[in-house]
Amino acid sequence: MLPYGRQSVDESDIEAVAQVLRGDWLTTGPAVAQFEQDLTKVAGAVDAVSVTSGTAALHVAYAALGLGRGDEVVTTPLTFVATASCAAILGARVVFADVSEDTGNLDPEAAAAAVTPRTRAITGVDYAGHPIDAPALLDLAHRHDAVLVEDAAHSIGGSLDGRPVGSLADLTTFSFFPTKNLTTAEGGAVVGTDPELVARARTFRTIGLVRDPDKLRYPDEGPWHQEVHEFGLNYRLPDLLCALGSSQLQRLERFKARRDEITARYNAGLADVEGLRLPGRREGADPTWHLYPLRVLEGRRRALFDHLRAAGIGVQVNYIPVYWHPVFEDLGYQRGMCPVAEEYYSQEISLPLFPDLTDGDVDRVVDTIRQFLRA
Ligand SMILES: *Cc1c(COP(=O)(O)O)cnc(C)c1O
Repeated sequence: MLPYGRQSVDESDIEAVAQVLRGDWLTTGPAVAQFEQDLTKVAGAVDAVSVTSGTAALHVAYAALGLGRGDEVVTTPLTFVATASCAAILGARVVFADVSEDTGNLDPEAAAAAVTPRTRAITGVDYAGHPIDAPALLDLAHRHDAVLVEDAAHSIGGSLDGRPVGSLADLTTFSFFPTKNLTTAEGGAVVGTDPELVARARTFRTIGLVRDPDKLRYPDEGPWHQEVHEFGLNYRLPDLLCALGSSQLQRLERFKARRDEITARYNAGLADVEGLRLPGRREGADPTWHLYPLRVLEGRRRALFDHLRAAGIGVQVNYIPVYWHPVFEDLGYQRGMCPVAEEYYSQEISLPLFPDLTDGDVDRVVDTIRQFLRA
């Protein structure tokens, strides 16, 4: 079965990890600081905090905002559940706003209509790798004393109007799961443009431990002393995996270029096929395409999905609207709330897309789709 996503690991990655294994540090050593420095640069951010997953990154970002009971987070339903559940688990209420039908990204107008005095954060998702309309959402958030969080699990390496993903929102989260644009096996990061928020993220990531002498309540306790002022968790990404991350980052541009090529090849191969809608791309957006979200019209999504799977092509569907998950349904969220996202979901198939996919693989996927729809 041709997978829909897959990591690219080469000998330089293996050597980078082996080198850490031969050294003195397994957990928090120099590779962590290096990876965080490398990420800061790629993201055009002020600082980066590595964590154990994209889900942890969202939990850390929301915790850094001090999100809790009585607060609201406005977000998109067209995403992986963690974008919303990490706010809900802190006690906040999630308010879903609909998406734009061209990109599948949070629609700034819908988000504006969902904002209330309780809104503490607006979280957009760079669906399929296409950056959100960050200028509009940032303006909306700041006008309401809220923060813009960008879930960039799909989009590291991309940019909007020449500005890299990671520099566009107050806080941006990444995932380094194997299907994503680069991998550390499990892993993620929070980057930001506000040094204080990133510092809070770092403290939460490290159990809430405070070591800075200027910040201690009892500075004269002794050189061993550290304090916890707010609860945190251990979400540290180990040296081993950070070394893999830095090694992978060196090839991010190449990964992006190949993802672009494959996307262009699908676009060219499918452009004239009736009954399909190809992914939209806005002016100024330079996505790192993580997914190729094909939309299949006329109710034929399921049939084409089954046909492709039967042909050994491992397609996927991204995503069921988050509020359809029983955990949200049980809280009273009802279907029909975000009709554009629901229609997008009902038509969507993610085609195989990863750097080591060959042109021959792409052509086989295209041919299989064309033959099926002609029949
Ligand atoms: C993958 C993903 C996450 C979660 O990342 P993990 O590393 O799998 O925990 C969050 N949001 C989106 C949009 C994702 O695609």
